[in-house]
Amino acid sequence: MATKSSSVRLRPDVDTLPSYVPGERPAPGRQLYKLSSNEIAFPPLTAVSAAMVDAAADLNRYPDMYATELTEAIGEKFGVGAERVTVGNGSVAVLQHVLTAVCEPGDEVVMAWRSFESYPISVQVAGARAVQVPVDAAGRHDLGAMAAAVTDRTRAVLLCSPNNPTGPALTQTELREFLAAVPASVMVVLDEAYIDFVTLLDRTDGPALLADHKNLVVLRTFSKAYGLAGLRVGFALARRRLTTGFRAVSTPFGVNSMAMAAARAALRADEQVRGRVAEVVAERERVVTALIGQGWTPPDAQGNFVWLGLGRRTAAFADHARRHGVLVRAFAGEGVRVSVGEPEGNDLFLELSAEWVQRSVDGVLELA
Ligand SMILES: *Cc1c(COP(=O)(O)O)cnc(C)c1O
Repeated sequence: MATKSSSVRLRPDVDTLPSYVPGERPAPGRQLYKLSSNEIAFPPLTAVSAAMVDAAADLNRYPDMYATELTEAIGEKFGVGAERVTVGNGSVAVLQHVLTAVCEPGDEVVMAWRSFESYPISVQVAGARAVQVPVDAAGRHDLGAMAAAVTDRTRAVLLCSPNNPTGPALTQTELREFLAAVPASVMVVLDEAYIDFVTLLDRTDGPALLADHKNLVVLRTFSKAYGLAGLRVGFALARRRLTTGFRAVSTPFGVNSMAMAAARAALRADEQVRGRVAEVVAERERVVTALIGQGWTPPDAQGNFVWLGLGRRTAAFADHARRHGVLVRAFAGEGVRVSVGEPEGNDLFLELSAEWVQRSVDGVLELA
């Protein structure tokens, strides 16, 4: 056997993977408002913690490989059979499995940009090429341009609604039109991670379109409205044939027993979850109204976060916020994404944003 080199060779494109930049975390011992990862500020519900403690008693056993009870509970909630549900270690992992199941080298995956930063990584890991279609000036998907970007090589389109990090959401009408415009052989993945926070009248309802559109895949997560980001549970809803493929490439036992128990308890606590979501939405409206009053023009915020397009002032704003006790997510040269947190954290952010405007009025710096 010929060996050309004495060291292990990585797949060449691994070096060129874009890196995921996690939201900044406070240094140990430092009291900061962490508005950098779109988490919910509430601790886990009592029923959820109790379910985890219960499940902990059986941790010497492997979890149910087929996640039978969880997929049934999810299926029931969304009015689809359990055989259409693929669960995974966060919806980021599920998306990786979804793309891996359909993409071959040279295939293209169309996405809006800027959108969720894990998309280009997942696409490249799946061996495909990301085709990025710029969001419009209002931070919205340009669905016409995205449909036009579909070629013979396109295997999938990723739609993020509401779009992380800019905030606007698609309507169900737009989604229907898009599905009608795209060939049925192209998989359309609708990432509805923040759907529960959407207050548009015609908000998307991906699961309702599954029966009519066999190329549709809906991604959901327990990390946002359900407040379980640290637990890592997400899922995809799709037709049975695709689901079988997604499951085939998934990591066996990808969701642990405690996470499955917690996710089921969270689904049962729907009313409390709705209550928390309503509080977040009320805070979001308060923050957005205040920002507009200060002179900002944020895009329509339909998630649990707001976007300030600060351009080249982005890093300066993020540093300023950090020094004053608020962590935001900076996208260098573009803007900052600020999660809606506890009211005190939002207040502090609003003080900083007001001060920033005042400094720009005073000519100390430009707003963007
Ligand atoms: C937060 C987020 C998710 C959730 O990812 P998990 O892996 O389930 O935590 C998915 N999509 C988008 C766009 C997100 O912002």
